[in-house]
Amino acid sequence: MAELKRLSESRDLTRIERIGAHSHIRGLGLDSSLEAREASEGMVGQLPARRAAGLILQLIRQGKIAGRAVLLAGQPGTGKTALAMGIAKSLGAETPFASVAASELFSLDLSKTEALTQAIRRAIGVRIKEEAEIIEGEVVEISIDRPLSGAGSAAASGATAPGKTGRLTLKTTDMETVYELGGKMIEALGKEKVQSGDVIALDKASGKVTKLGRSIGRSRDYDAVGPNTKFVKCPEGELQKRKEVVHCVTLHEIDVINSRTQGFLALFTGDTGEIRAEVREQIDTKVAEWREEGKAEIVPGVLFIDEVHMLDIECFSFLNRALENDMAPILVIATNRGITSIRGTNYRSPHGIPPDFLDRLLIVTTQPYTEDDIRKILDIRCDEEDVEMSGEAKVLLTKIGVETSLRYAINLITSAALACQKRKGKVVEIDDISRVYGLFLDVKRSTQYLMEYQSQYMF
Ligand code: ATP
Repeated sequence: MAELKRLSESRDLTRIERIGAHSHIRGLGLDSSLEAREASEGMVGQLPARRAAGLILQLIRQGKIAGRAVLLAGQPGTGKTALAMGIAKSLGAETPFASVAASELFSLDLSKTEALTQAIRRAIGVRIKEEAEIIEGEVVEISIDRPLSGAGSAAASGATAPGKTGRLTLKTTDMETVYELGGKMIEALGKEKVQSGDVIALDKASGKVTKLGRSIGRSRDYDAVGPNTKFVKCPEGELQKRKEVVHCVTLHEIDVINSRTQGFLALFTGDTGEIRAEVREQIDTKVAEWREEGKAEIVPGVLFIDEVHMLDIECFSFLNRALENDMAPILVIATNRGITSIRGTNYRSPHGIPPDFLDRLLIVTTQPYTEDDIRKILDIRCDEEDVEMSGEAKVLLTKIGVETSLRYAINLITSAALACQKRKGKVVEIDDISRVYGLFLDVKRSTQYLMEYQSQYMF
């Protein structure tokens, strides 16, 4: 359990720090009648596909998706991954989303069925509830070792600012125990301000401190509080909720931390190796026990497999079986191929998918983006990456997106911001865009370049 706790906490941190290509996608951007809003939750355009995804969402919620899978058919860069992620996000913040390209399954140092199993288990979440031993109490004393810079008294200007050291004394509600917490605990409260009189809770196992509210009626303390501090006394129910700590991990993460040869750190290196079948069986039994005792719930996630025409016939029959499992994630596959051969056979079929698997599919197509859509998506990405860009630069970047690809234009945002930073500018201008456009080629120009010069190096 302690390891699971450590795991769910470190995952929260990485989630905050990483700005992935799809971090702006917060859902499908649908209204209450599942109609797609033009731009919402980070999603722009692609209305028919989003509407269809909305209906799929309804099927999932009503438990009617079992045994079926979704196929997104469309050209590269038309938002297939974004749509799959939108479905996962709409299902809830805890819904795991795992994405894998079919070609990866063959290039990893694992058998393809092991790689598929790992992908599937990365898309199955386990919500583990744990009763935490929490002490509620009141902050009775704060002392800071060194003066805080800036205006205001030590107590009023955020005694808990990360990096500050100090001492905080917590008096528990039963008045029997007095806990003295060091500077580390003060840091643990993050940016929250703590004042004398604040009601806080200390989770003894994890050392996590949470601010719950303020005790009412101590005017002496109110004077020290800044204008934005809310005087909220935490309601009883809320206290109860906080006492129950919930960890969300995936089955794959449990597999890895329990596989003796690999251990916890393998999660960060990604070098998980083959996981023995017995380990998985033991874990499945344990999770089943937890489920029965009401300690755990399964959160089926979304598994997205791109370039699905690269899967071979064995992978498809493996997936066919996996879909029948009651813990199976929602399978969303994507392709940009029409009729092509089924890998591992001499047969040709739509999207290179065997007929029995085709039968399971709900097929949704994605359309190329209009110039206006591209401009809006670039706008959203600039916001997401905290990049300020002039209107003219955005016009140029949009043109580049139309001429090359949306993904190439999105990638230029970060490099153009770096170019701007280098010249000590604050706003990305046309020149920054032109500069990085010259430095990093898009596919069309790089192939053209190689074709022009191939006679010189191909003998
Ligand atoms: P491929 O088939 O090459 O994998 P794809 O169809 O999966 O491409 P994405 O990777 O989803 O395309 O899209 C490229 C980029 O554009 C991503 O950063 C994605 O988040 C963003 N994007 C795509 N469609 C939309 C949309 N409708 N709204 C907002 N952002 C989008």
